[in-house]
Amino acid sequence: MTAQPSTAVPSDADDLLVSHNPAAPDDIVAAVRSATPDEVAGAAARARGAHRTWTGMGAAARSAALNLAADRPAEAPGGRAALISREVGKPIAEARAEVGRAVAIWRYYAQQVFDPVGAVHEPASGPGLLLTRRRAHGVAGLITPWNFPLAIPVWKAAPALAAGNAVLLKPSPDAVGCAQRLAALLEGVLPPGLFTVLPGGAATGGALVDAADVVSFTGSTAVGTEVVRAATARGIPVQAEMGGHNAALVLPDADPKTTAAQLAAAAFGFAGQKCTATKRIIVVGDPAPLREALIEATTALRVGDPADAATHVGPVIGVRARDAVLAAAESAVAAGGTRLAGGTAAEAEHAGDGDGWFVAPQLLEGVPEDHMLAREEVFGPIAVLFSVPDLDAALALAAAVRHGLVTSVHTRDLDAALAVVDRVDTGLVKVNAPSTGVDFHMPFGGDKESSHGPREQGKAAMDFYTKSCTVSLVP
Ligand code: NAD
Repeated sequence: MTAQPSTAVPSDADDLLVSHNPAAPDDIVAAVRSATPDEVAGAAARARGAHRTWTGMGAAARSAALNLAADRPAEAPGGRAALISREVGKPIAEARAEVGRAVAIWRYYAQQVFDPVGAVHEPASGPGLLLTRRRAHGVAGLITPWNFPLAIPVWKAAPALAAGNAVLLKPSPDAVGCAQRLAALLEGVLPPGLFTVLPGGAATGGALVDAADVVSFTGSTAVGTEVVRAATARGIPVQAEMGGHNAALVLPDADPKTTAAQLAAAAFGFAGQKCTATKRIIVVGDPAPLREALIEATTALRVGDPADAATHVGPVIGVRARDAVLAAAESAVAAGGTRLAGGTAAEAEHAGDGDGWFVAPQLLEGVPEDHMLAREEVFGPIAVLFSVPDLDAALALAAAVRHGLVTSVHTRDLDAALAVVDRVDTGLVKVNAPSTGVDFHMPFGGDKESSHGPREQGKAAMDFYTKSCTVSLVP
């Protein structure tokens, strides 16, 4: 199945997936049919055979193939970054960074192929050796969201392949063109059947969980919880990276201007559509200096065409996402909140160029702590400012959500920062840096309802995509 470069849509298809350019919704980026459950089962059978070929090729050949994936032609007009920007509305500079990150991930795991896959032990008694050896599961089923349409599939597929598995990828329907581009890039690099894209929605995802030997999911907490339940019922290993409702803790000594610039980027970059985006800004003490700096930094962000290098905030992914942001802001204002930036719904909607799904970044204050916006992730450019009297109150408010992905803390007092590191219930902590931004070689994941199972990325991923076997070797 290949991406449609034009606006031609096959007309006779059931289960047709169509992805639109969120900045210009009449522009159809890709149109493909969903894979049926039978097609998923067929792909899994082929993948099982390809997995045996792949593991039989040896570590050097596997590493060379992953390096070849990294070496595919660099960025060109209409290349991967342009496609990411067009299909999901990501500002082009961030899209280029995503392509660079994918390349770095392929190279990192090309090297991991040569790392030890076990250990040697003395037997408790008698001659011989005891070995532990990690082996691939077989077929890895990957289910991915639309917001990092290249980096997330690659950060799952690269370790899965490096460990010797075959991969079946079910991308988001909103990013199916990027997934097809990835499949095209891997053609001729990997043995046939080793990496297959299976477009579709919930039914295809469910069939994939039924067919795979190990499952890795990234997406919303609601869907991730379903996927974990289904995989656990089959007794297969599963990891899920899910939503966030991330807090930034701003201590009284933080420089307002520097901090505000970081917070505006973390809350509203890529229109707030990152699991690690800052959603709640909690100021200890007088909020006035930060409030003023934040309003200035937020209103300075350029909302518009993501293909323009000067744009900070592109469109949101769809009309439902736009309406959810506007409705949450209206509801928070009705509940007593104050809008600091972003304008009313009517003004916010017309923030960008053309007919795209644009929303001006919405910054609010005075929102009740039990309001939905204070408790639940709204996946778009919306953030709330709170002020509290002391650090204990800040930590309590930060923890009062079901998510636990990332906290940022802003202070020049290293002791205070380290105290926060020890006390927050999130899987990631950033000190004096935006909550967004991920180091591809470090374990990534959250606590509470943000994550399930082992961490992604780094060496932790090689453990997840393998299972341990203890071997007793007697001469
Ligand atoms: P989503 O949960 O709607 O979809 C994720 C994937 O699951 C898609 O491929 C979708 O088609 C598939 N799916 C839907 N129903 C399914 C089912 N019943 N069985 C199997 N698969 C099913 O999420 P989204 O809108 O694509 O992405 C946004 C969400 O992802 C946000 O909540 C965001 O915080 C989260 N996210 C988390 C991380 C992280 O690493 N923690 C990273 C990026 C995005």
